[in-house]
Amino acid sequence: MRALALSDSGLIYTPDWPTPVLQTGQVRLKIRRAGICNTDLELIKGYLNFQGVLGHEFAAEVIEGSPEWLGARVVGEINVACGACDLCAEGMRTQCRNRVTVGIKQHDGAFADQLALHSSTLHRIPDSVTDDQAVFVEPLAAAYQITEGIHISPSDEVVLMGAGKLGMLCAQVLKLTGARVKVVVRRERPAKILEQWGIEAVQLADLPSNRAHVVVDCTGTSEGFSASLGLVRPRGTIVLKSTYTGLPQVDLARVVVNEIRLVGSRCGPFDVALRALENGLIDTAPLIEGRYPLSAGLEAIQTAAKPGTLKILLEM
Ligand SMILES: [Zn+2]
Ligand SMILES: [Zn+2]
Repeated sequence: MRALALSDSGLIYTPDWPTPVLQTGQVRLKIRRAGICNTDLELIKGYLNFQGVLGHEFAAEVIEGSPEWLGARVVGEINVACGACDLCAEGMRTQCRNRVTVGIKQHDGAFADQLALHSSTLHRIPDSVTDDQAVFVEPLAAAYQITEGIHISPSDEVVLMGAGKLGMLCAQVLKLTGARVKVVVRRERPAKILEQWGIEAVQLADLPSNRAHVVVDCTGTSEGFSASLGLVRPRGTIVLKSTYTGLPQVDLARVVVNEIRLVGSRCGPFDVALRALENGLIDTAPLIEGRYPLSAGLEAIQTAAKPGTLKILLEM
């Protein structure tokens, strides 16, 4: 089958990747569409030393496996949990001690014609949600993990750093809390989209220091944390959504002195994200900046890696 993968020789496209063999509990997915995410770009740069097929944002159809799922249009969670460890027992499957992660850690991903995936990770896509929208379920769930992790009051002032692929979904989720949301933008395109959504786009230099109740770092860079520390008010909260290869240079004494709460936030609830899309609460169409056939995957990655590019889709 065709696949876009990380190998000893770096990122490759090949029409001859071995078709996956189903393991117990797995179904065979025919991938319909997939999205390129910042994590993919970081993995290509060496994050986690991943090898295998990339891709964890996708819409697919079940073509083999349990009759319960056969023929269903689905999205799949990226964490494949063991179901047996203490954290799984507490319902924290995304933090499973023995998890593997689709397209990220010890599990092939979705930038291919097919993917073998455990059925426990699957969610049905409602008929009214298109494949284009469903590709956003994984990152949208991650955006909803912000409000799973902290309470945001409508009277809070919230600053979001980073109007990229994930940031533009987080901006919409944050707006739904009723809080006053300002998004730090560096480019015109996201600023225009935010304006359409009635969300304020600002420059970092225009924001007062140490005023925001909540700062969300979606910059995807090691500089985002330090900028967030400059914006959050004493006893405020910084939500960290960025994963990257580098290490941040920050004065942690400021966290102590100003009693800042730091909240790491990763994968979120797929059912919530699917319901939000079904109810028309989240707009994904303006975030799609390009589409490529899987066979042009290398070019698609190149485009996605250009600074400021929003979502690039791969069509199988
Ligand atoms: Zn992602
Ligand atoms: Zn587990």
